[in-house]
Amino acid sequence: MNSWEALSEIRRRVGEEEGVLRSPAALRVALCHPASYAVAMSSLGFQAIYREIHLHPGAAAERAFLPDRPAEYRNNRLPVFTYEGERPLSDYAVVAFSIAWELEITGLFEMLDLCGIPLICRERGARHPLIVAGGPLTCSNPAILAPFVDLIVLGEGEETIHELLDAAASMGREEMLEHLAGRPGFHVPEVSSGFGPPGRVDDARLPASSQILTPNTVLRSMFLVEPERGCSRTCRYCVMRCGAGGGMRVVPADRVWAKIPEAARRVGLVGAAVTDHPDIRPLIRRIVDSGREVGVSSLRADRLDPELVGLLVRGGYRTLTTASDGASQRMRDLAGRNIDELHLLRAAELARGAGIERLRLYMMIGFPGETDDDIGELIRLCGELARVLPLSLSVSPFVAKKHTPLDGAPFENVRVLDRRLTAIRAGLKGKADLRPGSTRWAWVEYMLSQGTETAGLAALDAWRGGGGIGAWRKAFAARGCMPRET
Ligand code: SF4
Repeated sequence: MNSWEALSEIRRRVGEEEGVLRSPAALRVALCHPASYAVAMSSLGFQAIYREIHLHPGAAAERAFLPDRPAEYRNNRLPVFTYEGERPLSDYAVVAFSIAWELEITGLFEMLDLCGIPLICRERGARHPLIVAGGPLTCSNPAILAPFVDLIVLGEGEETIHELLDAAASMGREEMLEHLAGRPGFHVPEVSSGFGPPGRVDDARLPASSQILTPNTVLRSMFLVEPERGCSRTCRYCVMRCGAGGGMRVVPADRVWAKIPEAARRVGLVGAAVTDHPDIRPLIRRIVDSGREVGVSSLRADRLDPELVGLLVRGGYRTLTTASDGASQRMRDLAGRNIDELHLLRAAELARGAGIERLRLYMMIGFPGETDDDIGELIRLCGELARVLPLSLSVSPFVAKKHTPLDGAPFENVRVLDRRLTAIRAGLKGKADLRPGSTRWAWVEYMLSQGTETAGLAALDAWRGGGGIGAWRKAFAARGCMPRET
């Protein structure tokens, strides 16, 4: 791959996008997502910040993503180019990353390094861009980012981004960082002591919605809009339960509807608890009555009824996805997951009755105190569900997150988790399609989600050491990050 080929791929993708924003603004921000284009462009938060930057007088955002094949870029000494500007990140005064979760930290290393930008903030100087990080990770554990970024935008960024842009346009770097260090919603690792609460935008700014539609994403030309933000439920493992919003903020259905462009043929309703929206049924009905397909990001089993499932089928649903999370009722109760197996069985029956072809169920194993009996209950329940409808079962290990009641809970021993996955596979053989998450990568996620700046530095060591599991183990050990496994 050479520059021409890299830029040709970017131009092809941009050529298939609708809604790209361009302006001759003086302050140009490289807005980066350390994930592939297909994943990143499915992020509503990323798209919302892109639009906000363009709404700011005198500012423009130019997007960049983790290349699909970073090794080819490295071997050919290619930098990461922005999509709108076709310039390397090192050409920008401000490079801002939206980071969704812990393991994306290596994408940040990769993108900066490909552009010759030193990864550690203290190794950068005035000729280097200001590196900013925001996104969902800042609601759980921004500490791991601290050694690498000059500024962290905490929590919801649609308002703080304007304050940042004002400061960037009117102040020198040092003055700007000193100023923002004292402002709510910002953290300057070199100046601030401790993290303040995450930012929360005024409800009048909601709903967030897509700016760019493209067929080249996971969600294929789906217009995304957020009918609610946050969640009023109290699952003990979930960051959203007590996130920036401290509960669910509902957007009136008319305001959501008004955001949907006439031309959008597929509409995704995105949020932590969309089916808890009081007017979700009339809203979906309006969407499907207009001849559009619909997608809903979070179907709660206890909110499903024949009307809602029927609407989803009319909106193109063939697979119904919901979550149990705990392996057994005892584990669901421990996790504060306020559903029981009757909700799940009823969901499967409703789905079958409406003509849905498959049930996809998310489970978590490894909650504190889980035993083989809990796994036995999972196998029994999934067997019953599979008798109602073909079942795909995604099982991932529980990872304790900061700012949740289960913060600090240990990570289950990887060998125990693997043994339980083997038992689930054997117990459901021929009955369900099992999609297990990686226990080893969940352990890495755990070490980062519970870690401090030192864990962030260990991530850098691991990435430099090749990024395999062995490199991560070695890096955490060398930095003295002690695993807490049961
Ligand atoms: S897991 Fe889902 S339902 Fe539970 S608090 Fe989080 S977003 Fe709400």
